[in-house]
Amino acid sequence: MKIPVLDLKPQYQQLKAEIDQAIANVLESTQFVLGPEVKLLESEIANYLGIKHAIGVNSGTDALIIALRALNIGAGDEVITTSFSFYATAESISLVGAKPIFVDIQKDSFNIDPNTIKDKITSKTKAIIPVHLYGQPAAMTQILSIAKEYGLKVIEDCAQAFGASYDGNCVGCYQNCDDNQRQNITGKYVGGIGDVGAFSFYPTKNLGAYGDGGMIVTNSDDIAELSRMLRVHGAKTNYNNELLGYNSRLDSLQACVLRVKLKYINQWNQLRRKIAQTYNELLANNPNIITPKMSKGHVFHQYTIRITNGKRDQLKDYLADLGIGSMIYYPIPQDQLPVYKKQYQPNSITMKLAEEVLSLPIFPELSLDKVVEVAQAINNFNIHVNKVD
Ligand SMILES: *Cc1c(COP(=O)(O)O)cnc(C)c1O
Repeated sequence: MKIPVLDLKPQYQQLKAEIDQAIANVLESTQFVLGPEVKLLESEIANYLGIKHAIGVNSGTDALIIALRALNIGAGDEVITTSFSFYATAESISLVGAKPIFVDIQKDSFNIDPNTIKDKITSKTKAIIPVHLYGQPAAMTQILSIAKEYGLKVIEDCAQAFGASYDGNCVGCYQNCDDNQRQNITGKYVGGIGDVGAFSFYPTKNLGAYGDGGMIVTNSDDIAELSRMLRVHGAKTNYNNELLGYNSRLDSLQACVLRVKLKYINQWNQLRRKIAQTYNELLANNPNIITPKMSKGHVFHQYTIRITNGKRDQLKDYLADLGIGSMIYYPIPQDQLPVYKKQYQPNSITMKLAEEVLSLPIFPELSLDKVVEVAQAINNFNIHVNKVD
């Protein structure tokens, strides 16, 4: 692809000296699992997010699983989440033995619709997992109010949203909310808003390692202690196992890479926002496209447009022919995947958007010239199609 949807090379080239040195230091130290690098990363991330505890684990999926376990959620429990996310969100709920309950999304934010959460609450409901999809914070004021009213826990799936912050305006949600609640959380980074936050450091994420990695963050001492135990076979001290846990330790090589990259994350997220803003301006007059809303704290893990004339797949192929990459996140809603399909009725807005969404090239090192080229190709496609039609 002439313009790939994501290219991780330029970032490594920029940081090569720093990263190679950090990796060499870890190799020399021969401390490969957890160890001082992980401890330092945990305190640096806790500090960055303004939160008390950060616990490094093996992946974002494990962060969700361990967070659920640390909240004592399991068989017989229900957890409410969005139907529009990567499968790991629902999978983690099922893997701890609980039942995912899928709520539809709001079309302007692609995020869980808080107005329909209450209808799905039963005596079995224990928690809500909002996903800050594509880097856009979910409607946290209303979600927290509902959680408080019904005594539910909130686990934020922050896999796509490292460095995103809640600006007090919930894109897509036009409800009057509790202003005290709103003020309490306005300006906070996601992950520190609910009871627990789960991050992924998969290489393609905004803060990406060079392998798998994840992190659990929380202000609760109890959740933190349980999470630390669960990541090492349920033990506080070696060979004194108290719980059925996991082997889900973050390794030092990933931690040292992440420590280098953490210094640049705000700058990179800013560049992503600039790219998104440029696309938004260039595509604003395209009658067949709805561009994403830009809240102040959106970090654009993905830049995702909606193609409303039914020609999304044709546009994708047309771009590919021009050497321009694009992706569909996600072609099938979580609840309609083969693993769940028989058990759930589809949610209508999620179904509609799964057929309309297209994610365009975005990464901090993508030049604005290339952004212009992609946008022009998209605008030309409409001319091209109208002619054929
Ligand atoms: C990537 C991702 C995960 C899973 O993270 P891994 O590190 O790949 O396990 C979970 N939820 C969402 C929304 C994701 O995008």
